[in-house]
Amino acid sequence: MEGVHFLVAFVLLASASTFVSASDPSPLQDFCVATNDENGIDGGMFFVFFKKIFVNGKFCKDPTLATPEDFFLSGFNNPRDPLNQVGSVVTLANDEQIPGLNTLGISIARIDYSALGGQHPPHIHSRATEILVVLEGTLRVGFVTSSPDNRLFTKELNPGDVFVFPAGLIHFQENIGSSCAVALAAFNSQNPGDIAISDAVFGSDPPIDPDVLAKAFRMDKNVVHQMQLRS
Ligand code: MN
Repeated sequence: MEGVHFLVAFVLLASASTFVSASDPSPLQDFCVATNDENGIDGGMFFVFFKKIFVNGKFCKDPTLATPEDFFLSGFNNPRDPLNQVGSVVTLANDEQIPGLNTLGISIARIDYSALGGQHPPHIHSRATEILVVLEGTLRVGFVTSSPDNRLFTKELNPGDVFVFPAGLIHFQENIGSSCAVALAAFNSQNPGDIAISDAVFGSDPPIDPDVLAKAFRMDKNVVHQMQLRS
């Protein structure tokens, strides 16, 4: 009888693991144009030779050649000056900086905000949820839910406070204190993706037709044009 119980448990576990692994892995780059040739040689009138093929993320190093350095990065304690218009600078630790992160589905960033209004402007991580902990200063943070509600969830954060920004939602952080602020943000992707709303909408290359943006933002077309010139 015990054998039967073991068999039932085994079958249940086996089917559970099949269910868990049934979905496709999340993409680790913005897109992956399919090619039928594993060498990256595309057919058609002209043959095009691609320099690389990205499968999902990056190719893997021979594991016997891996070293502790592949899993290591230092310098996250060093402040950086936000020398830009928005007043924040992001220091990344993803698969570019730590090759050992490849395929592990995790990364982290340090964000430095200038005093009095430094902000990480509204943006989206297309592939990751973000969890942020404030180390120094006071931030006002928030995210907006998807349509039709477009509900704003906002909170004032002080050192030690933690806040979550769900994947794919527009979110922001603003330094509302009189001194510099520092936060650490962790992501459930080795390559979370970053879409700065203003840059993407008004700074695309080539520019989006101003008529489209004027109607979408209920703005004068000349204002749209000015914003496109500035972005
Ligand atoms: Mn973010």
